[in-house]
Amino acid sequence: MNVPEYFGSNVFNDVVMRSTLPRDVYKSLRKTIDAGETIDMSIADSVANAMKDWALSKGATHYAHWFQPLTNLTAEKHDSFIEPVGGDAVIMQLTGKSLTVGEPDASSFPSGGTRATERARGYTAWDPTSPAFVKEGTLYIPTIFISYTGETLDKKAPLLKSMTAIDRAAKKLLHLFGIETAKVNTTVGPEQEYFLVDKDMYEKREDLILTGRTLFGTRPPKGQEMDDHYFATLKPRVAEFMKDLDETLWKYGVLSKTKHNEAAPAQHELAPIFTTTNVAVDNNQLTMEIMKKVAANHGLACLLHEKPFRGINGSGKHNNWSLSTTGMNLLDPGEHPESNKLFMLILACVIKAVDKYQGVLRASVATAGNDHRLGGFEAPPAIISVYLGDELGELVDSIVLGKNYTPHKAVKGSIGVPESPIFPIDSTDRNRTSPFAFTGNKFEFRMLGSSASVADPNVVLNTIVAEAFEDAVEKLEKMLKAEGAEFESTVTAYTEKLLKKHHRIIFNYNGYGPEWEAEAERRGLLNHKNTADAVAELFKKENVDVFVRQGVYTRNEAIARANIQLENYVKTVTVEALTTIDIATKQIFPAVEKYVTVLCTALSAKKGLFSSLPTAKEEELIKKLATNNEHMMLAVEKLKSDLADMPKDETTAAMRTAHVIVPDMETVRSLADEMERLCAKEYWPLPTYYDLIFSVK
Ligand code: ADP
Ligand code: MG
Repeated sequence: MNVPEYFGSNVFNDVVMRSTLPRDVYKSLRKTIDAGETIDMSIADSVANAMKDWALSKGATHYAHWFQPLTNLTAEKHDSFIEPVGGDAVIMQLTGKSLTVGEPDASSFPSGGTRATERARGYTAWDPTSPAFVKEGTLYIPTIFISYTGETLDKKAPLLKSMTAIDRAAKKLLHLFGIETAKVNTTVGPEQEYFLVDKDMYEKREDLILTGRTLFGTRPPKGQEMDDHYFATLKPRVAEFMKDLDETLWKYGVLSKTKHNEAAPAQHELAPIFTTTNVAVDNNQLTMEIMKKVAANHGLACLLHEKPFRGINGSGKHNNWSLSTTGMNLLDPGEHPESNKLFMLILACVIKAVDKYQGVLRASVATAGNDHRLGGFEAPPAIISVYLGDELGELVDSIVLGKNYTPHKAVKGSIGVPESPIFPIDSTDRNRTSPFAFTGNKFEFRMLGSSASVADPNVVLNTIVAEAFEDAVEKLEKMLKAEGAEFESTVTAYTEKLLKKHHRIIFNYNGYGPEWEAEAERRGLLNHKNTADAVAELFKKENVDVFVRQGVYTRNEAIARANIQLENYVKTVTVEALTTIDIATKQIFPAVEKYVTVLCTALSAKKGLFSSLPTAKEEELIKKLATNNEHMMLAVEKLKSDLADMPKDETTAAMRTAHVIVPDMETVRSLADEMERLCAKEYWPLPTYYDLIFSVK
């Protein structure tokens, strides 16, 4: 079968809907999907029946409400389609009610204190805007997840609410410009980085299995310094994995487009074609899950952790984000941005939102894993700033600083090889160091960790930009009421005001440079280096208010979510700490003891036989190993006792985790890593970095 034939074959997509649903039902459902109209519940039975018949034809026996609780994972509970009809017979059935509402027990999911444990009731409700699909014999129905009292318990419901908020606000803004449109959509294309290692090696590492990253390990003699992995030829096993992955994803309707080797050895990337935000979020969750499964079929383990290995690059996820309405990308500057009033106003609103809510945006990507990456040399720094590129950067500078601006033109270039085609050279270069970069017709938010759900940063982006749009409309309407106010000059004046006020967030230079931190501090920009410090921002009144005003979270929900984020952080690091203790005590300590014993036996044998043999280096090695091993166990003791008195309250516990537990673990690790460098390979109990990252041929 060729690709267009099997693309989306596991998805209840538009083609299937059109051919299986009665015409009026199809039309009604389409309206909900395209224009965001409330679903007409009277069509539910009909849709459910068509979905079920289609799922049965794909071999499904069960259905599952698929949801995204406040972990980074998805959750599902499978129910079979069987329905007894008397006389020991069953039929296969999916009612409208079962399609639209589910009632999983919610008590074991994080709720951040929004709900007492004994009040376990939670509901899942169908999200008709994201397509259902069949996987491994089950019909998956994308849903939102809410509590009995109506509080959202997932990432999907607020995401949809944030999409509604920005749709509403953007339409008001467009209306001011005389543009009427049914719906403004946010689109997202998440580029996904990952590592592939040999599964046998992976399974020998308790740390990789339990925490997703190596808690011990020293850099091999060769890392990524030769730049010989980035975009390099794919190794056969990797190429086979990628082919299988693409084919599987295509069957699930995921628009997998680009694949290549990344900078670090064993690191790769997959980028899909962008799509509507909530579908992009679902597809990215599915992509991460399928990556792991397909890898296992190829004898590989796929690592999605932000920093699986120390000393080489970690993995991120780039959230390409844009706004569009029928036939129009609102972030497209066109050929003459300087005279494109609407674009310049939208740009100024985004800049304002990012500056004003930089703390919220930073917090939306804060996790224990990402703490190892942000500010590392390969990832954007922990400081939020906006990169505009040469063209827009100069244009904005001309407005704010009164500098001269000469419009750029995409020039026709030639590389000087007669056979090569003439190609247009972009009017702006790329800047890989920026956390929030304008890239032609979209913004690329690059701070996300590779394992993160893309929902969180998009909830924030949509909400804060919606707020900036609403503010703009309100202010402009007022300004336009004034005597003699003229539309264009009023818009220009307001845009300039925003750009001047928020100019400090724009940084068009090297974000990795050491000068930037000092400069950012001078500008008053935030620089939170760990999750505990970053999430603290979310409790500030103005940062809660924006979500409440935009109808995305209630006050309770906003606070609960911040608490859950801290709780997740503490739990993640605690598991890492316990695993550190376990590996140090049960694997590394005994292994080094064994090696030291062998060295000592050899040494005393040598001394007994030939007292004149030189043994200084041997003695030195024994002393070094024995001392480090002892010190490592002392560090383990300290880590244990610090873990034993963790405070109950999330904020204090998170602070203690960041500032006591993480440094404690670091001490254990550095002593162990030094021993790894000294210990004979056959005695070292863990597969080394060399074994892990150079093992896939
Ligand atoms: P790069 O590595 O240069 O960032 P890629 O091609 O790997 O480029 O990724 C670019 C991503 O941006 C793709 O996922 C692409 O679909 C996405 N993208 C392009 N246009 C838009 C848009 N208007 N809205 C959202 N995402 C977009
Ligand atoms: Mg990119």
